[in-house]
Amino acid sequence: MEDALVIGSGPAGLACAAELRRRGVPATVLERGTRTGAAWAGRYDALRFNTCRWHSALPGAPFPRSYGWFPSRDQYVAYLQQYADSRNVPVRHGTGVLRLDPVSSGGWALTTNRGPLAARHVVVATGVFHTPAVPPWQGRNTFRGNLIHAAQYRNPDPFAGRRVLVVGAGSTGLEIAHQLVRGGASSVMLAVRTPPNILPRVLGGLPGDLPLPLFLHLPSRFVDRMLMTLQGWVLGDLTAYGLDKPVEGPLAGIQRRGAGTAVVDREVVDAIRDGSIRVVASVDRLVRDGAVLADSTEVAVDAVIAATGYRTGLPDLVGHLGVLDDRGMPHDGRGAEVLPGLRFVGFVFRPGLTRFVGLCARRLAKEVAAQRLTAGAPAAPWTAAPPVPGDCSPPAWRKST
Ligand SMILES: Cc1cc2nc3c(=O)[nH]c(=O)nc-3n(C[C@H](O)[C@H](O)[C@H](O)COP(=O)(O)OP(=O)(O)OC[C@H]3O[C@@H](n4cnc5c(N)ncnc54)[C@H](O)[C@@H]3O)c2cc1C
Repeated sequence: MEDALVIGSGPAGLACAAELRRRGVPATVLERGTRTGAAWAGRYDALRFNTCRWHSALPGAPFPRSYGWFPSRDQYVAYLQQYADSRNVPVRHGTGVLRLDPVSSGGWALTTNRGPLAARHVVVATGVFHTPAVPPWQGRNTFRGNLIHAAQYRNPDPFAGRRVLVVGAGSTGLEIAHQLVRGGASSVMLAVRTPPNILPRVLGGLPGDLPLPLFLHLPSRFVDRMLMTLQGWVLGDLTAYGLDKPVEGPLAGIQRRGAGTAVVDREVVDAIRDGSIRVVASVDRLVRDGAVLADSTEVAVDAVIAATGYRTGLPDLVGHLGVLDDRGMPHDGRGAEVLPGLRFVGFVFRPGLTRFVGLCARRLAKEVAAQRLTAGAPAAPWTAAPPVPGDCSPPAWRKST
């Protein structure tokens, strides 16, 4: 039986393994993909961070200055690889974990595509944006065009000259719609059910999220009111273009359902104003040549891109253990022990998730190392790390962010 196995080589899994190893706990990462940071490596070509590099790096591992303000997909993947290499984190690629079961004598049995494994401590870091969720629209099989989830979108090339309906107005939906306009799609519509909070990536010549650490320490309702007022000032009223005022603030939306805010470049909003992106009602059902919208209009399109979010995918892995809520989120997703020897990291909705999971990893590693000492494992040397302030406190006294 191994000491510690961490499932997933995104920022959460790598940080957990690195912090465990720093405290003398031999930890190995299991990654179903063929490379480290596989989730980000598979996202669309032009994806960039919404939060600036100062707020987004793992603790103790700042992004290089050459990355600019908002790291790109490829920079981030290179950063994760470098993080793992420089901390000697072993990653077993091509190892997908299918199911976890408790072992009666203690520890966990892992069913993987490469055979069984066992460990005393298991950390699940498989990502909150795990399984693409496409709404169960009636007519999906009748639609003659191309229906994909945003997770399958790479770049606008295949859509040049085509009529495209993007569904969902989060950062991803808005950004893809804008890329399609620039990439020569013949028409681009954006189907919106819940009007988003739109925040500019850059504001007044500075990253728009610079005050984020302060915001996270202020009452959410106050911050939301401020941001909604700011939105009105900066972007103006978009009602005439089909985007009503959002009904809840950015923080409330993110905390409640992990959505509701789109952080985008200003040109995206310009494209809505000049009609290059036409906002339409939400999709009711798909038909042979397009979609019928909630306002009963029918639109003819060649492709539908569903930027409609993700599920955790955890029910397959641990659904039988009684540790998930009805959204498939674990009872604690910040690294606390949920069952003896079982922890989840990264299952929380909040801005600046990358840095946050790194802070959770530090606390988790400290607790696991202490548990091992109590259980009689020999004390191992560990390397001190500078304290980093952050909100990753134990559940009992954590304020709800
Ligand atoms: C579109 C988008 C934009 C984002 N923008 C920002 C931003 O601006 N700022 C910010 O701080 N954060 C941002 N994030 C969040 C951030 O990039 C990370 O996704 C987040 O920190 C969560 O990381 P993670 O390690 O929990 O999960 P992931 O990065 O999703 O990594 C999970 C890993 O687990 C692997 N895996 C999954 N299932 C299994 C299994 N069963 N067995 C083995 N391996 C498995 C996957 O292949 C993947 O490598 C963004 C995320 C997305 C999707």
